[in-house]
Amino acid sequence: MSLYEVTHYIAGERVPTKSGMHSDIYNPATGEVAGRLHLADLAEVNAAVAAAAAAFPAWSQQPPLLRARVMFRFLALLQERRSELAEHLVREHGKVYPDALGEVARGIDVVEFATGIPQLLKGEYTEQVSRGMDAWSMRQPLGVCAGITPFNFPAMVPMWMYPIALACGNTFVLKPSERDPSASLLMAELLKEAGLPDGAFNVLQGDKVAVDGLLEHPDVAAVSFVGSTPVAEHIYATGSAHGKRVQALGGAKNHMVVMPDANMDQAVDALIGAGYGSAGERCMAISVAVAVGSVADPLVERLAARAAALRIGEGHEDGVEMGPIVTRVARDRIESLIGAGVKEGAKLVVDGRGCKVPGYENGFFTGGTLFDHVTPEMTIYREEIFGPVLCVVRVPDLAAAVALINGNQYGNGVAVFTSDGGVAREFVRNIQVGMVGVNVPIPVPMAFNSFGGWKRSLFGDHHAYGPEGVRFYTRHKAVMQRWPDSIAKGAEFSFPQTR
Ligand code: NAD
Repeated sequence: MSLYEVTHYIAGERVPTKSGMHSDIYNPATGEVAGRLHLADLAEVNAAVAAAAAAFPAWSQQPPLLRARVMFRFLALLQERRSELAEHLVREHGKVYPDALGEVARGIDVVEFATGIPQLLKGEYTEQVSRGMDAWSMRQPLGVCAGITPFNFPAMVPMWMYPIALACGNTFVLKPSERDPSASLLMAELLKEAGLPDGAFNVLQGDKVAVDGLLEHPDVAAVSFVGSTPVAEHIYATGSAHGKRVQALGGAKNHMVVMPDANMDQAVDALIGAGYGSAGERCMAISVAVAVGSVADPLVERLAARAAALRIGEGHEDGVEMGPIVTRVARDRIESLIGAGVKEGAKLVVDGRGCKVPGYENGFFTGGTLFDHVTPEMTIYREEIFGPVLCVVRVPDLAAAVALINGNQYGNGVAVFTSDGGVAREFVRNIQVGMVGVNVPIPVPMAFNSFGGWKRSLFGDHHAYGPEGVRFYTRHKAVMQRWPDSIAKGAEFSFPQTR
């Protein structure tokens, strides 16, 4: 079988690498190499940034309404071609097809938000701020923005970034994940078809060489990153040291607290979907169930039955709930962490290791795993496993649940399941986590709100997309204006005491 090629996309064209560097793209369900990725060297980083810098003056001068019209056309094209985009995700990431369509839909939401950019860029105006003087504020684009994105949402996470960056008048260089890069090229071509000028959106395929080249490049004004915490920290430190605005979203360990008064059916459904959906490879996946008081035994019993019965297979097959893990290395790491959990004394209730799917014997599958009696010192509690492994931690009361969660290094998402409004209110007010669900397991904000965690789940001041995205991709400018006829005072050396 011949391998497909995934190249860069620079100045409106697919551009093969001249670096001579390539890596393999796998189909995780079959375990076979399916494509070949072209990897950038520094010369190619420079070419992509140069294309974006060259496109910036004209694109940033377009009235916001015209930029919004490009987004409207892009929105229509994405809706028409969403199944094609979803196909890339199933083939390279492994997630099941309905979930891939859902990912695309959530990305499209952000494009829809970006079509409102004329309204979003409006500044504030104060008439007669002093005698004969008016003042206003406005927001202007930054220049070339870079986006560095993870494997787990190859369409949606880039769409958290570039629609808003472009609509604000910036130009963009996307460095997608090496694992599932094909969606990036389709999105680039649809943007061109929508009328985006060449060079305004570029894709640079690559690894650390490409990323570090972008972080150090003097013509890159801002960097948005989503990925694991160690890399997020590196991106934030290096990008900031090179004078860039940086938002770096990192890893997670998301807890769901189940109170004794919770609706048990809903809590179990929520934990199964949020723990094992997309094989646990979601930054908002629930990986820790915090069972409060008497709820623990019945909860574990019901979770065990469901986790053992998960339908695992290739992402197109009917009724499949969980696909493969993205790479063999990631699957082996997950299974070795399960081994560590057993060694450190957690009770392995359902063991997903060694899962074989008929017809896909070489695929990177692992089954759903459930641990009980997990404690905060254990490796499986401390580390982000990023796989279908749900850990149950037993605590006596709400205060202990809150203390556990607030003591965790991550603070991306959290949920509480309860039927008591007072408990929910106390939880929401006291929990040190960026996104909180009350009887909602995965509280991902919609496109017109903003997304982001606390603590070591986000480095930087701005959350992603929504109004925070508009603030990140623009600079504030304050203007005071009066006209010569009204200037009668001569030079002023002191701040005015009255106006
Ligand atoms: P990753 O950190 O390995 O890779 C992310 C990006 O960084 C990729 O484009 C990769 O090429 C690049 N990269 C990797 N190592 C690098 C290095 N040493 N120097 C420079 N660049 C490097 O993450 P991943 O495995 O692709 O994605 C999974 C991680 O992303 C998980 O930790 C997950 O929690 C996190 N994630 C977080 C969010 C969020 O919103 N907080 C969303 C999605 C994923």
